[in-house]
Amino acid sequence: MNLSREFIAELGKRFAGDLRLDVASKILYSTDASMYQIEPLGVAIPKTQEDLQAAVELAAKYKIPILPRGSGSSLGGQAIGEALILDCSRYLTSILEINPEEKYALVEPGVILTDLNRAAAKYGLTFGPDPASAERATMGGVIGNNATGAHSILYGMSADHLLEAAVVLSDGSLSQWGMVNRNSESGSEKWR
Ligand SMILES: Cc1cc2nc3c(=O)[nH]c(=O)nc-3n(C[C@H](O)[C@H](O)[C@H](O)COP(=O)(O)OP(=O)(O)OC[C@H]3O[C@@H](n4cnc5c(N)ncnc54)[C@H](O)[C@@H]3O)c2cc1C
Repeated sequence: MNLSREFIAELGKRFAGDLRLDVASKILYSTDASMYQIEPLGVAIPKTQEDLQAAVELAAKYKIPILPRGSGSSLGGQAIGEALILDCSRYLTSILEINPEEKYALVEPGVILTDLNRAAAKYGLTFGPDPASAERATMGGVIGNNATGAHSILYGMSADHLLEAAVVLSDGSLSQWGMVNRNSESGSEKWR
């Protein structure tokens, strides 16, 4: 399968980031930390959230598989595939907010876990789950893999610490998902 000229042209008009379709880039992105190797269809490196939304929307329109990627430190081949790779690790790297009172952080998906922990340490806080790859792993990948580490018994897994996520749906729209009404009468947790 190849990316069609129509798709590339339409994405090019709406995408501020880098679009790499050369053989060298495809080979670079054909591996992660697993034993597998699969050449992707291409690599899109979004600069903004709008870039991500445009890529997802147009991929759905042209029926192109997509694969978000952080640092590619996955051990089971999660970060490779015959798809358009969406590399969130290059530009989407901002820690938008750390709120020490309410003990949460708002980050873009490409933030490296160790960088978040360094910033949070100023307030005596840490993310908790500590994969051994923390110096490379991005928050998007940590959450995508539900990573944990040596202190999992004490701090749990990444999913236990995810309060909300801004999710790009297949039509390119943005949806905010999070737990609401934790103490509803039925005792069940509700999601919006
Ligand atoms: C030396 C080494 C040590 C490791 N130690 C541990 C450990 O102790 N504990 C542990 O749990 N794991 C460990 N891992 C595995 C891996 O590093 C972690 O799972 C890490 O969380 C992956 O982060 P990443 O940024 O490399 O993600 P990637 O490998 O790039 O992606 C991981 C998954 O998340 C998805 N993803 C990435 N970004 C997004 C996004 N923005 N939106 C939606 N989905 C996204 C990808 O599609 C993929 O499915 C280790 C790996 C290595 C190489």
